[in-house]
Amino acid sequence: MSRLETASFSRCLSGGQLLEMDACTRCGECLKYCPVQEVTGDRSVSPPEKIRNFREFMKKTGVLRRWLFGGGRIDERLLQDFTKAVFECTTCGACGQSCTVGIHTQRLWPMLRREMVKRGLGPVGPQKDAPEAVSRTGNPYGRPAGERFSTWLPPEVKVAASAKLGYYAGCTGAYEARPMVRGDVLALSRAGEPFTMLFAEEEVCCGFPLFITGQFELLEGLVKRLVEAYAARGVETLVCSCPCCVNMISKDWPAFYGRKLPFGIRHISQHIEWAFAEGRLSVTRTLDERLIYHDPCYLSRGIGITEEPRKILSRIPGARLLEFDRNRQNSRCCGAGGAARKVFSENALAIFRLAIDEACRKEADRLVLGCPACYSIAGAALEGYKGTGGGRIGIVDMVELLSEVF
Ligand code: SF4
Ligand code: SF4
Repeated sequence: MSRLETASFSRCLSGGQLLEMDACTRCGECLKYCPVQEVTGDRSVSPPEKIRNFREFMKKTGVLRRWLFGGGRIDERLLQDFTKAVFECTTCGACGQSCTVGIHTQRLWPMLRREMVKRGLGPVGPQKDAPEAVSRTGNPYGRPAGERFSTWLPPEVKVAASAKLGYYAGCTGAYEARPMVRGDVLALSRAGEPFTMLFAEEEVCCGFPLFITGQFELLEGLVKRLVEAYAARGVETLVCSCPCCVNMISKDWPAFYGRKLPFGIRHISQHIEWAFAEGRLSVTRTLDERLIYHDPCYLSRGIGITEEPRKILSRIPGARLLEFDRNRQNSRCCGAGGAARKVFSENALAIFRLAIDEACRKEADRLVLGCPACYSIAGAALEGYKGTGGGRIGIVDMVELLSEVF
């Protein structure tokens, strides 16, 4: 297939998304919130620019136009620049949150990426390796499947062969944010309700890195395999700490599975706050610290969870909770989302350092995270940080922090 002409650019978009594309008034409100534009100064990644270009591509490849005029040529350089802009975006959704006409960009951008993949133009850089890595090892990093749990799952944690409660660690947690998932299983264990996990080789990728980079081919197989494995263990509620996994499982697994999932999905913060409320968990130590919580994009804007993490942190005696200027659904991206972290790592580091800057200015002792992608960029961003206070700030995951005060 020629990537310049033939199929219409509109084929990956739903009817609603076509209307959204048409609705952009180029008012520019979203430009104030785009983290990539903030650190690069490059307007090509901005929503109105992406939408304007894509509209042009759609016009040139539309059915009526092809019938009347035989189709239009699109400059290949323009397509390449557009592809870079679409994949450089972190899919944080801050633009959609601020959009004056309500364009749901966190769902729209992945579909533009899908179109560029279908044309053989995307994804970019190491994102292309993810399908092969997932097929070979079960995770997009190509790390050994047998090491998925071995380096962080404490031997004292009892994992049931089957249970109503299931725990899914996710690839980024298991390989790149181990203290986070270790904290999760310690908290689940302490709450006392039996929980089950799949075997290390069985717990494969949830599919989010493939979905978000427009590479859909393996998704149905991965989803069916995971859903059936949890169902066979009697799972009724699946708990997970990665906001991207929770989004993928709750919003997209049913479509790839072909019907309603046989279990519900809960973010770890929902489950832990429930366990506190039920009296299953309690905090026994105080913490004389100023904490500032960073809302992950796919937790706050993705599935609307903003209060449970704050309730959990406010249960710690002595801890004082600070807020970023942009918080909850308006939070600033960490820079690592949308599979952009390994390709546009300089952007990710610069974006995360903006959060460190603000946390240091507000004299927080620790910056508290709730997402393994944020966690995985945090250490590198803090290293060599030269801003306010020289970066004398700690970084910790919300549930990891709880293990200090139980
Ligand atoms: S999703 Fe985030 S990074 Fe992408 S254009 Fe919108 S604000 Fe910018
Ligand atoms: S806020 Fe919405 S309508 Fe305005 S430029 Fe951005 S995407 Fe377009």
